[in-house]
Amino acid sequence: MFLESNAFARKVDEARFRGLYLEGDDITADARSDHPRQMLEVVGFYDEMDRLGPWAPVPILVTMAGAGGAADHGFFVDTLDRVRRALDQVGPLDAVYLCNHGAMITTEEPDGDGVFFAAVRDTVGPDVPLVGTLDPHGNVSERMVDALDVVVAYRTDPHVDQRERGAEAAQLLRELWDGMTPHHVLVKVPIVAPNVALFTDSGPFAELVDAGQQQITSQICNVSILGGFAFSDTSKNSLAIIVTGRDCDVDARRLASDLADQAWANRHRFVAEAISIDEAVKLAVAAGRDPTFPAMVLSDLGDNCGAGGPANTVWMLEALHRGGADGVLVVNFRDRHLVKAARHVGIGNTFDATFTGDDWGREGRGNYLARAQVIALHEGPLVGRRGIVAGKTLTPGDMALLELDGVRVVVTSHTAVGNDPIFSEALGVDLAASRTIVVKVRSSFPVAYDEFVDSEHMLFVDTPGRTSPMPSRMPFESLPRPVYPLDTDFDWTNPLAAHESG
Ligand SMILES: [Zn+2]
Repeated sequence: MFLESNAFARKVDEARFRGLYLEGDDITADARSDHPRQMLEVVGFYDEMDRLGPWAPVPILVTMAGAGGAADHGFFVDTLDRVRRALDQVGPLDAVYLCNHGAMITTEEPDGDGVFFAAVRDTVGPDVPLVGTLDPHGNVSERMVDALDVVVAYRTDPHVDQRERGAEAAQLLRELWDGMTPHHVLVKVPIVAPNVALFTDSGPFAELVDAGQQQITSQICNVSILGGFAFSDTSKNSLAIIVTGRDCDVDARRLASDLADQAWANRHRFVAEAISIDEAVKLAVAAGRDPTFPAMVLSDLGDNCGAGGPANTVWMLEALHRGGADGVLVVNFRDRHLVKAARHVGIGNTFDATFTGDDWGREGRGNYLARAQVIALHEGPLVGRRGIVAGKTLTPGDMALLELDGVRVVVTSHTAVGNDPIFSEALGVDLAASRTIVVKVRSSFPVAYDEFVDSEHMLFVDTPGRTSPMPSRMPFESLPRPVYPLDTDFDWTNPLAAHESG
């Protein structure tokens, strides 16, 4: 049950989960299809299990809502009940694989994944191996880790290793069947990093993940480091290091302790850096006027739909349109009413378009009104061609390409993370001719647009919204305090180091 919950975003109800809800053999069929819809770690798990030898999958349930607010608690309970009943009905199992994000809260439960994992453990008993994969933006609780035998988190952000981590879970499962006894060591460091400080190409998180992999020994079967997801706003938020030892925990304790020290020593570097909207408009205007100016991608951080942003704030659209920027493409803006209106008006015609936007921080003025021409229409679905969604079926619903003077906007009916050129290309856009591409996603866009834009011209913009990159601007209520970077003047003692010396 896969959801990344932003406590400041609107609740995720059953309908959203039903967008990807598979039971029984449909899970196997999707996992083994050419263009699967479900999480790629499940696909990687199937592939590797198939490769490693005969097995009999007993698929139970997969539902995924991507990123949003808290899960509706009633739906969460119903889903968990279905899972437990199914586990009871299928009889003895040799193992269970769980594929959750790790940052799910419900409207009543801040540790959704922990409750989920513990319930599965409770149902199958203490002797059935449980392996789970997590997104490194998961917020780890002791309950989550204690319920599982081995936790495997992705090592990349953008998350390009989902298949590999699913495969790793399968390999570890085989080891458990061969008699390996896992000993996990969890240490939580009081850092709640903005997600722009958690990339794995460079920076403090990249160095930490690298150090973990480099210092693996034969006594260690997995090192998982999770930066967490600040916007979940829970008391379990932290940077979490989970090192799992093979048959003993000596090396695992040492490595977990060293990594925790490294994270804490680098705490000052877990901060967000982004340009202002005004600077972004200036650059876009210059790029539109001068063809020798490099093309850019601007990431609208305050409306990152990969983190629960609604994909419809108008800050960037309004500023770029009013600023007179040319050659701009905004991808993707979610507004099904606007798509409907565009279809009604028809290709080539112009109308008074209302972009219905989120009013977070806008005092009721969420919408943006402008004359717009309908350039193209598309009915979806699409197959991803680049980056982390390559080969996957994508479901933006009906789409429209609208033009407002020098600004074009890809409007989708459903939330669709604009991390693949296919959304624009399906509507006839020549991305190579675009001067400024605005995306409502933080992480997975460089691997999508690097055909058109150099990495040094992929810029982050500090826009307001439910996914603001500046922690001090968010109304956090439940984070553990003190915590870096909201609090800076405090000491922390590594509990593993204290244990060793004591
Ligand atoms: Zn993530």
